[in-house]
Parts: sequence; structure tokens; C-alpha cells
Amino acid sequence: LVTRMTGFGSTIFAEMTQAALRYDAVNLGQGFPDTDGPQELLDIARESIASGLNQYSPAIGMPVLREAVAAHQERFYGITVDPDTEVLVTVGATEAIAASILALVEPGEEVVTFEPFYDSYAASIALAGGVRRTVPLRFPDLAVDEAALRAAFGPKTRAVLLNTPHNPTGKVFTRAELELVAELAREHDAVVISDEVYEHLTFDGTTHIPIATLPGMAERTLTISSGGKTFSVTGWKVGWVHGPGELVAAVRAVKQFLTFVGSGPFQPAVAHGLSLPPEFFSGFAAELQAKRDVLVEALTGAGLPVMPCQGTYFVIADAAPLGVTDAVEFCRRMPEEVGVVGVPVSAFCDTTEPVATLVRFAFCKREEVLREGARRLQALK
Ligand code: PMP
Ligand code: GLN
Repeated sequence: LVTRMTGFGSTIFAEMTQAALRYDAVNLGQGFPDTDGPQELLDIARESIASGLNQYSPAIGMPVLREAVAAHQERFYGITVDPDTEVLVTVGATEAIAASILALVEPGEEVVTFEPFYDSYAASIALAGGVRRTVPLRFPDLAVDEAALRAAFGPKTRAVLLNTPHNPTGKVFTRAELELVAELAREHDAVVISDEVYEHLTFDGTTHIPIATLPGMAERTLTISSGGKTFSVTGWKVGWVHGPGELVAAVRAVKQFLTFVGSGPFQPAVAHGLSLPPEFFSGFAAELQAKRDVLVEALTGAGLPVMPCQGTYFVIADAAPLGVTDAVEFCRRMPEEVGVVGVPVSAFCDTTEPVATLVRFAFCKREEVLREGARRLQALK
């Protein structure tokens, strides 16, 4: 049976987690934390159920969460958002991305995105009948190639799908890079869909810059985030999108027929998370940075050089020095042979040649898990 999704198969993350379970391997593949988020959030979710918040929530999301999103954007970035007309609560960032693309992109219109790209981007663009125009980040320094980016824009460009901090590379886009994206978006009258789910997970003093804060960009940017990564509750699937009322209304029109609404009881809990003091956010980033360092040391010690990682849950290592020529094949045998799971970077790419030996590892795991992973990776030497 040929369908619009023929060729997409099942996601690489699910495949790798299955392999981890089958071989009792250390799962450094799929990006989810192995400890739950702050206890007070878990308590609020429980209390929400006990207090009867168990029927459909409002179509655009509970006021408490929309207000918390607006207050968070003001507090961290100085972005003013009307919680009633400019915020939409979604089922994770995944739905926000899909609904935004389905709302804005007509069949045949083009969406510019950087490569590697998160796997749902290609699927969402395909569902809309859009055409993906990818701009490879340059390996190994992950710089944006200005000429390639300029060349990707044209008369059919409808949107740019941006992701910073970036999965799978851990790159945080610089202001100069964002200014170039912004300039091209304005010039070609394109909308920017900015996936910022790792907004709080940046390291070594690197700061995340929302593209909506650049001149002339608030009126053409849909900013997407999610509680999953910031509060270590990836299973709750509470996300949101904010931007100009007209664009958000278009996304809402799609969202109401995809899922209508998301789960109610988690919304007050995530709202509380967004209002936690600054120390929570900086503390969590510092914890992750320490985990990154443990994994980086382990990978380097096992003979796999790593690329710089300024944010997210992920670091990329090069398996070439071990004699690996095909990371896909390597990642398929690692769970059984080494007892560790990683994800080939080519799963995020159209052009697989420059990334053929690269593997993404997740470090959002307990330190003892990372250390066990490290111990097993020694076997590669
Ligand atoms: N965007 C990126 C870049 C991601 O890594 C992920 C993975 N969690 C998502 C979106 C999806 O987020 P959510 O689980 O909130 O749907
Ligand atoms: N975003 C997570 C990752 O990149 C996984 C989410 C998923 O499994 N779809 O690993």
C-alpha cells in the first residue's frame, strides 16, 4: 500500500529503544531522561486529577498555562505575548510543528530547514505536500554556509523551520546566524517556525536567542517549545506555540481537528514549572553540563572524538577512528556487541555521506548509567 508516509518507516528512536530493551543495553539513543522532573510538578498533576480536572480542557489550552507561557517569554526574553490570542497549547512540540506546517504550507511550497534535522520535520513537510529544502550545517564546525542558505530561498519559499539549540548536533545558533536567517525570511516574506524545545539546556555560558527577538521577526515567527525537556517529563506531551494572533489562529484551526485538545491535568503542572525561580533552570542546565562532560570523557577515552556541544541532550561522536565506515550498521550491532545504544546521525539527513561515521549519544541519563555506558564503551578500544 503506497501512502503519503511511504518511505518514512518507524522512527529511528523507537527502533533503537527496542534494541536497548532486547539486549539490556544502556540506552544513549532516544533522548529522554531516566529520572522524573521536579516533585512539585508531579504532585500538581496528581492533585489535578484528584480535583476533577478530567474532562476536555479549553480548545486553546488552559488559561493558567497560556498565562504561564506568556509570563515565561516576558521574564526570560522580554517578549510580550497575549495569552488569549497569541498562545496555543499543543500535544507536545511535535503537534505544534506539524500543525504549523499543515496550516501554512500549501502543496508545492518550500520549507527551508537545516540539515541534520529532527525526524518529524521531514514527515510534517511531506504530510502538507510541501517540499523540503535542506541546508547542510558544515561538518565538523557546524557553521552555517551563507551561500547555501541564500540559495535555498526562492519564490516558492513559504517557511523556515529552525531548531536552536539544535538536535542532534548540540549547536546553539549565534546571533549572526539568526540575523542571516531573519534577513532572508524578511526578504522572501517567509514565516519562521522556530523549534526551541531545548531553550533552557545550554552550557558553558552559551545563551539561547529566540529568533522572535530580532528586529521585524516577532510578526513572522511561530515559536514552539514544550515542557518535556525543560522539566524532564517527556511523556506528558505538553507543548505550545506562540506568535502573531493571525498565525496562531491558523495553527489552531488545524490543531482542533488533529487532537482537539491535549491532556488537562498536566497543564497546571507545566504552568507551575514555567514559573519556577531562575535557579531551577540554571541548576538543571548545570546538571546536564556535568553529565555531558562524563559522556564526552567516556567517548574520547574509548577512542571516539566528539564534536563541540553547547546545548540539548546530545553529543555527536565520530566512530571512524575505530575503523567504522557505516554508522547505521555500527549502531545496529552496538546494542548486542557493546551493550550501548546510539543513533546514527544519517537518520537526520538527506545527504548521508558527510555524516556516514557519526553517532549521536544522549547524556540525559543518571550518572551511574552514563558511567556504565562508559565502562562498556571501553570495549571498543
Ligand atoms: N523538536 C525537537 C528538536 C526534539 O528533539 C523533540 C524531541 N523530543 C521534539 C521537537 C518533540 O517534542 P515533544 O516531545 O514535546 O513533542
Ligand atoms: N526527541 C527525542 C530524540 O531526539 C526523541 C523523541 C522521539 O522518540 N520521537 O531522541
